[in-house]
Amino acid sequence: MNIISAFIVFENLHEVRRLCHWGPIIALTVIAVCSSMAILDSIIWYWPLDTTSGSINFIILINWTVLILYNYFNAMFVGPGYIPLEWKPENQRDTMYLQFCRVCEGYKAPRSHHCRKCNRCVMKMDHHCPWINNCCGHQNHAYFTTFLLLAPLGCIHAALIFIMTMYSQLNDRISFGWSSVKIDMSAPRRVQHPIMLFSISAFAANLFALGLALGTTIAVGMLFFIQMKVILRNKTSIEVWIEEKAKDRIQYYQTEEEFIFPYDLGSRWKNFKQVFTWSGTPEGDGVEWPVNDKCHQHTLTIEQLKQKADKRVRSVQYRVVEDYNGAWCPLGKGINTFFRSPCSEEPRIKLAKGETIFATRGTKWWMYGDKVLDEEKTKVGLRVRGWFPRRCVEKCHYDSANNTPACEEKKDK
Ligand SMILES: [Zn+2]
Ligand SMILES: [Zn+2]
Repeated sequence: MNIISAFIVFENLHEVRRLCHWGPIIALTVIAVCSSMAILDSIIWYWPLDTTSGSINFIILINWTVLILYNYFNAMFVGPGYIPLEWKPENQRDTMYLQFCRVCEGYKAPRSHHCRKCNRCVMKMDHHCPWINNCCGHQNHAYFTTFLLLAPLGCIHAALIFIMTMYSQLNDRISFGWSSVKIDMSAPRRVQHPIMLFSISAFAANLFALGLALGTTIAVGMLFFIQMKVILRNKTSIEVWIEEKAKDRIQYYQTEEEFIFPYDLGSRWKNFKQVFTWSGTPEGDGVEWPVNDKCHQHTLTIEQLKQKADKRVRSVQYRVVEDYNGAWCPLGKGINTFFRSPCSEEPRIKLAKGETIFATRGTKWWMYGDKVLDEEKTKVGLRVRGWFPRRCVEKCHYDSANNTPACEEKKDK
């Protein structure tokens, strides 16, 4: 044992615990099933290694697996980067522009947010992703997005192998008679003497793996486009919501301010280079950020403070106009709502027409908020909080004269 420990030094062994969660277990199982099935199919039935093209196919398949796992584990174990506990800005005066995190007992650096799952303030937090059981943020943004690109590409390659294997194995064996279908399972086709016959169970396994591969391609491919949008605009999902609230606040108070989002550097290429670098580590320390010429380091944090102060005097209420059953990917609520369900473990809440919701954040298709409950339930300390489709609610504006909410007409329906 001592000899082993002289060679291998484990650092942060507790991080391995991130693997013990349904997200990584399912994700790694899907990767294992698809890649091993594609490799076995190729070697045994479709593209044996004794041909050059077969060997190239094999090497490419192995490469997908290695690259996918490399980016996946880096996204998980490098992590988003956390703001040090009890962090303070160098200049004491700057604390007046920053929010304080009571859990981390430190100030929240610009672009950082506290994640309840990680229990730390996360640098440039985008969201907590259950599939890597970690946050997606500053340090792992490139690894995470590369994984989202490679996984569908690998899955498409694997899916083609599955389809071609099944086709080449079954094509010559099925013959249609007048009143019967004959399947001849004895004669292997493309490969003269396969190690194993293509049996019914091999066919079933192929069909299952094909389903997994196609499902992953669609679901993960969508997430890739969402993350690319985040990177090219240099605006995280959380910041999209902050900007929306900023515009809403300015419009409500008619302050004539102009809100410019500070971190968009004006060109997609510049934004891209902030995240993707040759060294693999993103630009910057995760605390100080390059900003637009018209802005300064604290443009966004000051806006956040204003919004926080604003919440005390004015609540953003939404009225439910469409029932919702609490499904994660609801049918009949539009294709975007179905596919863009937030990548988060937070609950979904059922809605019934006429209920009122106090929303705190959201995406273009989904919102997160607290249901306004009757007095009895509030007294017991009951709270119903979670995600719901945006199209099921409409915004209520407070009528400042009599302080009652007046719901705006739905224009885009
Ligand atoms: Zn914190
Ligand atoms: Zn987190």
